[in-house]
Formats: sequence, structure tokens, C-alpha cells
Amino acid sequence: MIEIDKVSKWYGEFQVLADCSTHVARGDVVVVCGPSGSGKSTLIKTVNGLEAVQEGVIRVDGVLVTDRKTDLPRLRAKIGMVFQNFELFPHLSVTENLTLAQIRVLGRAKGEAVARGLTYLDRVGLLAHRDKFPAQLSGGQQQRVAIARALAMDPVAMLFDEPTSALDPEMIGEVLEVMVGLAQDGMTMMVVTHEMGFARKVADRIVFMDHGRIVEDTPKEEFFTAPRSARAREFLAKII
Ligand code: ATP
Ligand code: MG
Repeated sequence: MIEIDKVSKWYGEFQVLADCSTHVARGDVVVVCGPSGSGKSTLIKTVNGLEAVQEGVIRVDGVLVTDRKTDLPRLRAKIGMVFQNFELFPHLSVTENLTLAQIRVLGRAKGEAVARGLTYLDRVGLLAHRDKFPAQLSGGQQQRVAIARALAMDPVAMLFDEPTSALDPEMIGEVLEVMVGLAQDGMTMMVVTHEMGFARKVADRIVFMDHGRIVEDTPKEEFFTAPRSARAREFLAKII
């Protein structure tokens, strides 16, 4: 579903991604972790073309992201992305947040967009909050709306970049619970997170990055019991 093949990227002289290759099979969950500045956000943003790369090839659902001729806005419409800071439209109600892209990008009729949006809002447990504005919701609730908004677009895959790291501890669980449900329903997911409980529960593989390189790309069990690199062992010792 997601293929990343020998990808390198530079900011001027600074190489932020170095010969990165990995993949996410349909229905799999791959967790990306590693120290701050190792290139996790940059890597995940290359998948939907939010960050261009100078070398290598990326494909999503058969579409070449790295081809100049690819219609990136159209591709992005089918890849859900959830960031650290929720990024809801502050001036729109929850329902309007859920329907805007469905109507504008997918051309859905308003009635259909509302029906779908509310189905997913219900699924993340927030149907009662449909008429509120983002500022009237907690961080955890806003993040669940952001996930529902992405799901309402019928994505072929979901990308998450540290979706719980801006949340107060008591709200992390409710967001992870939604993500675990998604994973168990067979969504293809690439998730940058340091929530190792989540990784242990639903990840198929763990990608560990350091200094722009993929140092490990290992089945979950192996990563936790016998990480190959000293760098990953150090990292795990710190966060678990
Ligand atoms: P964190 O855990 O802190 O989110 P990360 O692993 O997601 O870190 P990235 O945000 O991908 O790391 O950044 C990787 C490196 O690239 C960092 O050293 C960062 O300073 C650098 N970098 C990121 N964006 C730019 C940019 N636009 N211009 C120059 N350097 C950048
Ligand atoms: Mg990051």
C-alpha cells in the first residue's frame, strides 16, 4: 500500500533523510519512532507529498507520489493525515469541520457529507458535540474530531504524526483507543509515536530512525525483545 524506496532528502547541505526504504502492507500498522530530529516527521510527510524528496521513489496505492505529473491534491484526498496539533478549522463547527473537504474536494452533496461525518463522529464517541466549535472541546476531543474528519474522506491509509504528544496525560488514552480500534478494523496506518503500549498492542512492524536513517525495520516482537542496534536499545531503555 505504501512503498518508500531509497529515499533521500536534503535541506541545503543538511541531509534529513538518508537512503530510507520501508513499506506498509495493506491492513498493516507500522510505528515509526526515534530520537527528536531523526527525521520521523519529514519521512511521514513525504508519503503524501507534503515534503518533496530529491532521491528515491514513493508509491501509495499504486500512485507514484514522487512523479512530478502526479496530482498531489487528489492523492492527498485519499490519504488521511493527523498531526500533533489537531489542526481543526477554529471558525467552523465540528460538523462543518467534518464536511468541508468531503463537499469541496470529493464533491459530495451536503446531506451525504453530514451523514458520513456524523457516522464517524459517533464512532469516536463525540456525536453530542456536533454543534460545538473546536475551542469548546478538550485537546483529546479535538484530536478525535480530526481523526473522524480524516476517516470521513474514505482514506486508503492513515498517517499519524505524534497524535498524542500535545495532549494532557489523561486524554492520551481516549485518542489511542480510537486508533487501536482503527487498526483492529484493518486500516493501513503509519504512525509516528513514542506510545510503546500502542505499538505493542497493534503494530506489525517498528521502524526506528536515527540521524535521517532507518536503523531498524523489525517485527514488533523482535524490536521489543531484541533490538538489533545499540541506538535502539538505548532509546528503548529511556522511554519504557
Ligand atoms: P521530533 O521528534 O522532534 O518531532 P523528527 O524526528 O520528527 O523530530 P524532523 O522534524 O523530521 O524530525 O526533522 C529532522 C531534521 O530536519 C531536524 O534536524 C530538523 O531540524 C531538520 N529540519 C526539519 N525541517 C527543516 C526545514 N524546513 N529546513 C531545514 N531543516 C529542517
Ligand atoms: Mg516530528
